[in-house]
Amino acid sequence: VIEIRDLHKAYGQLEVLKGVSISAEKGQVISLIGSSGSGKSTLLRCANLLEDSQKGDILFSGEPVEWKGSGLNRRPANQKQLLRIRTNLSMVFQQFNLWSHMTILENVMEAPITVLGRDKSETEAKAREYLAKVGIGDKCDVYPAQMSGGQQQRAAIARALCMEPEALLFDEPTSALDPELEQEVVKVIKGLAAEGRTMMIVTHDMRMARDISDHVVFLHQGLIEEQGSPDQVFGAPKSERLQQFLSHSV
Ligand code: ATP
Ligand code: MG
Repeated sequence: VIEIRDLHKAYGQLEVLKGVSISAEKGQVISLIGSSGSGKSTLLRCANLLEDSQKGDILFSGEPVEWKGSGLNRRPANQKQLLRIRTNLSMVFQQFNLWSHMTILENVMEAPITVLGRDKSETEAKAREYLAKVGIGDKCDVYPAQMSGGQQQRAAIARALCMEPEALLFDEPTSALDPELEQEVVKVIKGLAAEGRTMMIVTHDMRMARDISDHVVFLHQGLIEEQGSPDQVFGAPKSERLQQFLSHSV
């Protein structure tokens, strides 16, 4: 579904990604781990074209992103393609990013209607279904501020699902949550993995990564330092940096 080849990204002089290749096939769960500043969020943001990159290819279902310009001036050239890719790779952020002036149901319905032009009553039925699926079907008419962090994050996941994307991208979906609330969200993500959804997940939760991933990628200073199956990466890490990183995480 997503393939990234030799991606380079800099913010001004700061090289953040120095040639990263990573792909997620249909139904695969890829976890990205690595210390703060290693480029994990940047990689996800480049993957769904929220962020420009300077070199390398991004392919969506085999279709390469068309670029215009080069280097620091490189931009996606085709607006239709950009929208197609962005709406098919739904992102879930650490800080939920729900609209505070809209009810939960309205939050979930907003993008399918305004971005995809979907029918309102059909979208409402789907939104209710996805909210029920993540266990907050009774919260449709509530505002985000009236919900716990775990409930808000589940609403953000329902919102991403309501776009019916090809893949879901998660950027530390549980890091802002207290441990008890974290588990509600982990449970939802595990359910999605078991359903065969294609996902790329940046996480600090090594246990979840080990449980749900088909493939784990350890980023270090903008490069892939080591990657492999969860058993390889967590059970028999080869690189000293990865060993060190794992010894500092729980
Ligand atoms: P964390 O675990 O803390 O979330 P990360 O691996 O997600 O870290 P990134 O957010 O991708 O790291 O950041 C990688 C590097 O890029 C960092 O050095 C960061 O300071 C820098 N960076 C990120 N966003 C920007 C930006 N908008 N402008 C300039 N530099 C940035
Ligand atoms: Mg990050």
